[in-house]
Amino acid sequence: MPAAFLGHGSPMNAVETNRYTQAWRAFGARVARPRAILAVSAHWYVNATAVTAMARPRTIHDFYGFPSELFQVQYPAPGSTSLAEEIAEIVKPTRVGQDQDSWGLDHGTWSVLVHAFPLADVPVVQLSIHALKDLDFHLDLGSRLAPLRESGVLIIGSGNVVHNLRELDWSRPELGFDWTRRFDAAARDVLTGKPGEAAGLRDHPDFARSAPTPDHFIPLLYLAGLASAAGRPAEVLIEGCAFGSLSMTAYTLDAPRPAADQGRTIRVDGSASPS
Ligand code: ZN
Repeated sequence: MPAAFLGHGSPMNAVETNRYTQAWRAFGARVARPRAILAVSAHWYVNATAVTAMARPRTIHDFYGFPSELFQVQYPAPGSTSLAEEIAEIVKPTRVGQDQDSWGLDHGTWSVLVHAFPLADVPVVQLSIHALKDLDFHLDLGSRLAPLRESGVLIIGSGNVVHNLRELDWSRPELGFDWTRRFDAAARDVLTGKPGEAAGLRDHPDFARSAPTPDHFIPLLYLAGLASAAGRPAEVLIEGCAFGSLSMTAYTLDAPRPAADQGRTIRVDGSASPS
């Protein structure tokens, strides 16, 4: 099963159509139906590693100041108590809390899944980001989730490679500052080259400005860890910046190629080989 990191950007992307939402939709349409989706969202950033373990996770509207249509959005995908338990088992000795009632599906997850899996008929489990752990921990935890891919679980990180809300420039909806584009390019080089070294991006001169809090950057490390475990680099799904200080860049791992990609044959396992 493929894996992905999607740059979710503004919550408004849930109810809009643009080149990013179209790329997420095309990705979901190309992927064979997963047994379940494991989502690592920037917005469940707490002092523990936990999974949503409820049969019916609620749709959480974890933002304010947006139009009411965004508060109407529901993503009624079922949960999966069995996958929640399976995750706790495979990442031992890391402890994974089984959340029964505190969280659900937040907008980091549903703002991309309403496009990628609009029917909401695939079970979804969210994994929290342990805020007290360093980047190496998250890269390693990502790599240890790799066995799930072999049993039909689609793993999706949802954040933004560059995410600096204090420096947003509303007059530049489709542009990035120089430093935004520099860090985005540095991350691209690592993800498509040596993803196992992604935690080293913390030493980049633009890291502090690009990830003033690391919550939106960390989901990228889960894909990097999975790519490292697979021994293959990630591929760019779509690139771009928004409002100056956001990167919207998204990556996939082992995803089927678009039908328009001539000259290659897509095998049923999703990998591509020259035809
Ligand atoms: Zn966000």
